[in-house]
Amino acid sequence: MKALSKLKSEPGIWMTDVEIPEPGHNDLLIKIRKTAICGTDMHIYHWDEWSQKTIPVPMVVGHEYVGEVVGMGQEVAGFKVGDRVSGEGHITCGHCRNCRAGRRHLCRNTYGVGVDRQGAFAEYLVIPALNAFKIPDNISDELASIFDPFGNAVHTALSFDLVGEDVLITGAGPIGIMAAAVARHVGARHVVITDINEYRLNLAKKMGATRTVNVSREKLSDVMKDIGMTEGFDVGLEMSGVAVAFRDMLSAMNHGGKIAMLGIPPGEMAIDWSQVIFKGLILKGIYGREMFETWYKMASLIQSGLDLSPIITHQFSVDDFQTGFDTMGSGESGKVILNWQ
Ligand code: NAD
Ligand code: ZN
Repeated sequence: MKALSKLKSEPGIWMTDVEIPEPGHNDLLIKIRKTAICGTDMHIYHWDEWSQKTIPVPMVVGHEYVGEVVGMGQEVAGFKVGDRVSGEGHITCGHCRNCRAGRRHLCRNTYGVGVDRQGAFAEYLVIPALNAFKIPDNISDELASIFDPFGNAVHTALSFDLVGEDVLITGAGPIGIMAAAVARHVGARHVVITDINEYRLNLAKKMGATRTVNVSREKLSDVMKDIGMTEGFDVGLEMSGVAVAFRDMLSAMNHGGKIAMLGIPPGEMAIDWSQVIFKGLILKGIYGREMFETWYKMASLIQSGLDLSPIITHQFSVDDFQTGFDTMGSGESGKVILNWQ
């Protein structure tokens, strides 16, 4: 089968021909219809320090997808051939304390699809049936293929009560933008989002941000005055992984504010801890999606009218994968989808 692989320890990604994977007793065999390119795939593409430490070569990459069940192991229950599924990319151990308590997103023995084991940028994918999520009929393949990053947005955004609250999002990448859409949909008042990329801020505006802030030109504190905020933000969603953005957020929070942190800083990040202490802030780290509460909520949010479609800005045939990666790397895109059929 065709698969996009990391073949060499250098920047790039290559189309290869590999064996169709065999499902084990508890696995599904999924025929892939659409995949989306994640920021993580871009790190692997560029072969940064993290990828060099993490990715064994050769490796079929990718973990954002939708497909159709075409086979399964003998122990699988609850799925049938023809089911349309996406899947949770974190494969958890099932035997640690958190797994046994149903808190699988906190499993200490997590493996990543397309990171530690064969990924979804291929004609076929094998995952444990436990990790698959059936897509309701009224949700399109396009949207289903971005459930993984949408789940990051939903998990982060719904970590704290947003109803009637003022929300600050730092970083208008695809995940930050989707978080803005969710915050607005569930009833936040001000949804302010920062970035340095005008294309993405425009997209954020289209999708529900009430105010965008290009921090290379405007100061967040001026914008807060401008929109009549006299105290500070109630909830912060850190989605840039950039130290200066996080520091801005800390100063813009109201006392008693709550911050959910998804963005991954490249290294250690110094902050003024007195902001956290004297403001009584609560910080929560976010990894992945809750299994599987986040997945059910994603479907419900779309079914209750959340329109995510503008985030999908580009679609290519997988034969044009290089254009897809170049587009994603340009910063002038939302989600980029590759079609496998
Ligand atoms: P992305 O890189 O596309 O988005 C980050 C955005 O931050 C970019 O648009 C960038 O222009 C912006 N930015 C840069 N400097 C800024 C500044 N000073 N102020 C405000 N914004 C600034 O990434 P994404 O795919 O949207 O993901 C968001 C973050 O979440 C990334 O750091 C990613 O690594 C991380 N992530 C974490 C998890 C997890 O499980 N914790 C999962 C997926 C992604
Ligand atoms: Zn576990």
